[in-house]
Amino acid sequence: MNIAETLADSAARESEGTALILDDVSVSYAELDTAGKRIAGLLAERGIGPGDRVGVMLPNVVEFAPVYFGVLRAGAVVVPMNPLLKAREVEYYLSDSGARLLFSWHTTTDEVEKGIAGSGGEAVNETVAPGQLPQGPVSEGVADRAADDTAVILYTSGTTGRPKGAELTHSNLLRNVEVTQSDLLDISTDDVVFGGLPLFHAFGQTVTLNTTVAVGATLVLLSRFDPVAALNLMAQHGVTVFAGVPTMYSAFLAVADPPSLPALRVCVSGGAALPVEVLRRFETVFGCEVLEGYGLSETSPVASFNRPGTARKPGSIGTPVTGVEMRVVDADGAPVPDGEVGEIAIRGHNVMKGYWRKPDETKAAKSEDGWFATGDMGKVDEEGFFYIVDRKKELVIRGGFNVYPREIEEVLYEHPAVSEAAVIGIPHAELGEEIGAAVVLRPGTSATTGEIRAYVKERVAPYKYPRVVWILDEMPKGPTGKIQKRDLVVPNAAEQVRG
Ligand code: AMP
Repeated sequence: MNIAETLADSAARESEGTALILDDVSVSYAELDTAGKRIAGLLAERGIGPGDRVGVMLPNVVEFAPVYFGVLRAGAVVVPMNPLLKAREVEYYLSDSGARLLFSWHTTTDEVEKGIAGSGGEAVNETVAPGQLPQGPVSEGVADRAADDTAVILYTSGTTGRPKGAELTHSNLLRNVEVTQSDLLDISTDDVVFGGLPLFHAFGQTVTLNTTVAVGATLVLLSRFDPVAALNLMAQHGVTVFAGVPTMYSAFLAVADPPSLPALRVCVSGGAALPVEVLRRFETVFGCEVLEGYGLSETSPVASFNRPGTARKPGSIGTPVTGVEMRVVDADGAPVPDGEVGEIAIRGHNVMKGYWRKPDETKAAKSEDGWFATGDMGKVDEEGFFYIVDRKKELVIRGGFNVYPREIEEVLYEHPAVSEAAVIGIPHAELGEEIGAAVVLRPGTSATTGEIRAYVKERVAPYKYPRVVWILDEMPKGPTGKIQKRDLVVPNAAEQVRG
């Protein structure tokens, strides 16, 4: 069982079909497969084989896929790394994973070389540039891997500490691709999938790259997300499937005169809460259903989804995918009654083997009978639909009252001038924490911080509305485009509204 076989199969069936498109470059399945075989051959020459770790630090370029599948073909373990990492971070990833080789993008050589030196200099750097893939002899065989052998180590911050490597097995990934394809998206060879999510992250990797390659469809890549460029590409290539994080949906809604997208058949949102108002507006403007799903790096990532066709519930994360169980538990791990808020736990074929070389963290996150504690607070309704209330660590406690930022953000998104919103706790001498809200306004609209504050005040209990509101040109965002709350800086008192 090796996920690299999905590429081999598609290349056998669809050799001339287009696998990847970036700008004016397109790559057929036959070309992708051969390039992957040469990467596997290069690793074999270097004596790198089953179980060895190989860093892949590449942006969304056509060279990503052959490197990824080539490493897997050789039986080695892919360690995806964000190409924006600095030397210190490269050093940490290399030493923690024990990677012996790193494929890195040509623009990052300085940071990579420093990182390698800092990590003790064990790893060898192979530079990748546009149209220039390192090559070895063509390696025909696909290394045999057991279902629970690790395929990818995905680093994730989790709730605390330095990034931990979630070990995802060949079975984790193959089963997740299978449910994404058949359970949810019904993708076939003729589909054109949009690849704007970073491929080094769980969501982009499984839902866009691996699912596309497994069915022999086409992936249209975008290296750096930009809403206008994304919409134009989608129109130009007749994209049928879009997968993105909520901030991408908000960004599309801020584009004046967007092109129409008649080919678009299904949109999925995940990675963060999709405000119901954003879902509704997007569906009205673009005429395509948006299905919200949920998951984490540790769950390969898809765990639950609103299914197409059947009843879906905007604002919910849907029901668990086939073969996956979810439940809501209290602090001791015991299930709570339906409708009550607790921590979401997940069990099934998608749950990681564990955190790489971190047995204590693995034990803390995964029970002996396989339940993974997500760190997300949520509830389930009588029809089995799950709702995320917020991340456990995002909870703000104001004067002893619990406030989940997500609830307040939903209200902010209903304000006609608000395009993005993030609510956080601000340290406060008497209350412990005060509620703060940062907002980005929709282009062509205006609103004062006082108006925004009053809007929320009218709609929620008095202890919940943000006393401190500030307007930003742009939200700080993480690599997938999710709003990064820890990078929000509360402006000085002059710009705030208090009371
Ligand atoms: P990552 O491991 O980077 O994929 O991040 C996983 C986290 O993203 C989860 O623990 C959730 O907090 C958040 N997340 C993913 N999907 C959703 C969703 N549909 N609604 C709310 N939060 C989500």
